[in-house]
Amino acid sequence: MTEASSAGYSRHRPCRASDVAHWDLQTEVAIVGFGAAGASAAIEAANAGAKVTLFEATSGHGGTSALSGGEIYMGGNGGTPIQRSAGFTDSSDDLYEYLRMAGGPDADAAKCRLYADHSLAHFEWLVAQGVVYKNSFIPTRVVEPFTDDCLIWSGSEEAWPFCESAKPCPRGHTPQWMGLGGGKYLMDVLAKRVADLEVDVRFDARAVALIVDASHCVVGLVIRSEGRDQFVRAMKGVILCAGGFIMNRHLVQQHAPHLARANTPIGTVDDGSGIQLGQSVGAHAIHMNEGFVTLPWYPPESLIKGIFINEQGQRFINEDCYHGRTAQMILQQRGTRFYVLADQETYGEPEFGEFAKIGIGAAGDSWQEIEKELELPAGALMATVELYNRHAANGEDPLFRKGAKWLKPLNKPPFVALDCRIDYCTYFTFTLGGLETLPSGEVLDASREPIAGLYAAGRTTSGLPRWGAGYSSGMSLADATFFGRQAGLNAAQQRV
Ligand SMILES: Cc1cc2nc3c(=O)[nH]c(=O)nc-3n(C[C@H](O)[C@H](O)[C@H](O)COP(=O)(O)OP(=O)(O)OC[C@H]3O[C@@H](n4cnc5c(N)ncnc54)[C@H](O)[C@@H]3O)c2cc1C
Repeated sequence: MTEASSAGYSRHRPCRASDVAHWDLQTEVAIVGFGAAGASAAIEAANAGAKVTLFEATSGHGGTSALSGGEIYMGGNGGTPIQRSAGFTDSSDDLYEYLRMAGGPDADAAKCRLYADHSLAHFEWLVAQGVVYKNSFIPTRVVEPFTDDCLIWSGSEEAWPFCESAKPCPRGHTPQWMGLGGGKYLMDVLAKRVADLEVDVRFDARAVALIVDASHCVVGLVIRSEGRDQFVRAMKGVILCAGGFIMNRHLVQQHAPHLARANTPIGTVDDGSGIQLGQSVGAHAIHMNEGFVTLPWYPPESLIKGIFINEQGQRFINEDCYHGRTAQMILQQRGTRFYVLADQETYGEPEFGEFAKIGIGAAGDSWQEIEKELELPAGALMATVELYNRHAANGEDPLFRKGAKWLKPLNKPPFVALDCRIDYCTYFTFTLGGLETLPSGEVLDASREPIAGLYAAGRTTSGLPRWGAGYSSGMSLADATFFGRQAGLNAAQQRV
């Protein structure tokens, strides 16, 4: 049986083991996808003594993880050495509280707890794999270091409402890599480890269907490679680490249409095949409407002292929160026009301005001029700025509770409105919804029962980051690497 069409299996329909005439390959743990989640799963499964085979659809390792900044959200247990040497202590309870808030109304408390308690150990694990972190901290607000520095404020830790529940602490750890794009370095390090452990890696090998036995246990995979389908028996389990679905416009339109407003999906394959393979055997997908969205409108951090307005001339967010949270709130506004208002003392050219296409929408010597030039409803911008300035002068923001250190009346001309139109500027997005899993990586069905033989991790799952408004940089790779490890370990420990 080699033809998918005649066989009837696909990513939507599993193949029956009883229909497999011949197993082309037998392994213990079969992993789909060689990004951060797949690599971490492979390392742990191999370390636990399992025979591991890793299938990657493309011709090299890395996936979207290799495009990333490589930043990982870590802390707790008193702090990583880098947090401590920058003068921060970070308790596991504060990390847990932050993760829970960041996870939104349906945060996975068990995953948050496990991660918070073991995040420091995870840092040590990454270092043991060979990832190098420079002992340095950037105190100002950045999106990603342009240098090889490590620790940054990468979320909304200092901003309301997060700062009320968890003591703020910077937790974004970027590997020692000069410039943007440390994800390539991170993946090269993990890939070397996978090679050292002699994991059997098959490139140009796409998972096209799962294989189930008569009791609906997942017992293997159909892999399409070199133009033919190969039947792979996985004695201990299959781990789906195939990324998210931002590149599948049909799925985005179906599940997360608001994300389609953001014009720049970021990813590699990310076609949802991992999620659909899971669904084909009854796996439950959750939070499929959620995604990360951003417009990198700061640095410079002086712009945070400005205010964001919509096309009604009204504020809608405390501007000191993470840039991804601002963008989430933008998606929820009516209209397409958004502006950052700054005065002479707060204005600075956005460092990602050219890249993100953020230009000057209006400039003038009075806010009235700006209001007119932007053709906003008469008096709306004026009223917004007047109210903001009046309270900022007293160090207060009663509407949105922006932190006192970012409050300053915008009263020094000339004034500027930075143009952040959603249909023009570069709004980046990727998905956060996916298969529901236990902290062990076991995939659940709709009644929350584990599906025997099936595991998943990374953006194929709805993991720690599952709420766009709470996402913080570093959470996706934290989730992919840490819970990839759990899946690898748990699959390897299954008895055959
Ligand atoms: C520009 C950019 C910057 C980012 N910066 C950060 C950051 O600093 N920190 C952070 O936490 N997150 C960041 N992210 C997000 C993060 O990179 C991803 O969410 C994360 O890497 C996902 O990891 P993953 O292992 O789940 O998927 P991936 O790394 O995408 O790996 C999935 C792999 O599966 C393969 N695959 C897909 N389908 C199949 C199939 N059917 N059969 C076989 N193989 C298949 C793919 O080719 C891919 O190699 C960034 C993203 C981008 C694009």
